[in-house]
Amino acid sequence: MKTVKVNVVTPDGPVVETDATMIIATAESGEIGILPGHISMVAPLQIGPLRIMHDQNSEEVIAVHGGFIEVRPDVVTILAESAEKAESIDIARAKQAAKRAEEALKAKQADVDHKAFELALKRAINRINVYEMRR
Ligand code: ATP
Repeated sequence: MKTVKVNVVTPDGPVVETDATMIIATAESGEIGILPGHISMVAPLQIGPLRIMHDQNSEEVIAVHGGFIEVRPDVVTILAESAEKAESIDIARAKQAAKRAEEALKAKQADVDHKAFELALKRAINRINVYEMRR
């Protein structure tokens, strides 16, 4: 079965280096599916899951928080602001981050940076969702 190399890199270092039969990323424009041999392209990513399929139906899910995907026919690179494998997510920390952001948004104080808390809430929800998708 044909495969494509997949690298997920963050400012803290590499998170994943693997071979995939298919990947599904959450681009700004929506979900995109990439098979080996895909034409070259670069696209911005949303906060969302990255699904990496291997042969024999195995799949891993990564929580990706913004950045870019660069596709070439034989290698896909994801440059993310932060990213975690489902099994490395600290679920208690993500739930606390979600609660903190929700409370800050509810308080509606003028001096609160709403955009920053909205993004923090999105990151926390993504982590909770990806944690629940782990196998
Ligand atoms: P928090 O408020 O909990 O710090 P955050 O969304 O502000 O969350 P980020 O700025 O996205 O955190 O990430 C900072 C670092 O902490 C990154 O290395 C990221 O991978 C890691 N990280 C953040 N939250 C978690 C989590 N729940 N589980 C594992 N690693 C996490």
